[in-house]
Amino acid sequence: MNTLPTKTRLAERSLLVEVGCGLCGGKVETPLHLSTQSEWAKLVWEKAYFPFPREKHFLNFLHLFDSIYSSLCWDLVELWCVIVRWIWGSRNAVLHGRLVKWKAPVEGLYKLNVDGSWSREMGAIISDWNGAVVGGFGKKMDVCTSAEALAVLDGLIFAKEIGIQDLCFRK
Ligand SMILES: [Zn+2]
Repeated sequence: MNTLPTKTRLAERSLLVEVGCGLCGGKVETPLHLSTQSEWAKLVWEKAYFPFPREKHFLNFLHLFDSIYSSLCWDLVELWCVIVRWIWGSRNAVLHGRLVKWKAPVEGLYKLNVDGSWSREMGAIISDWNGAVVGGFGKKMDVCTSAEALAVLDGLIFAKEIGIQDLCFRK
């Protein structure tokens, strides 16, 4: 769990000196801070209407994950993982200057955001026209070629499964 190359992790390995959060300017960029405490993460969870467990104070990321895993159904655990991965991707986009501003679809239309990677992981999030997350999933794929095309296909199937037909998408 402590393998994510956050600034604190890189500092522990003497690869970086500055450990402040790249997203909100918080004092230390730990996995727990990035995933739940940064202003960006708080906004994402609020938009997702995610039903966090009652326990609000976590010792570290592992404690948080343990709480999520032991108290929520598997679908929510999966959604939690997708959103955390998405937050991490957002953080990287900001730090490396690749941020593309999210653009809301026209009212009544839903938006599918997908991300596939060479590590054979993919994730998809569907948001409504206000930016509220209505569903999402992540999974391992058998192949790494055409990862994003497969992610779009799975995202479309997922949208159909949850009853959404008016959909646009962005990778
Ligand atoms: Zn922060």
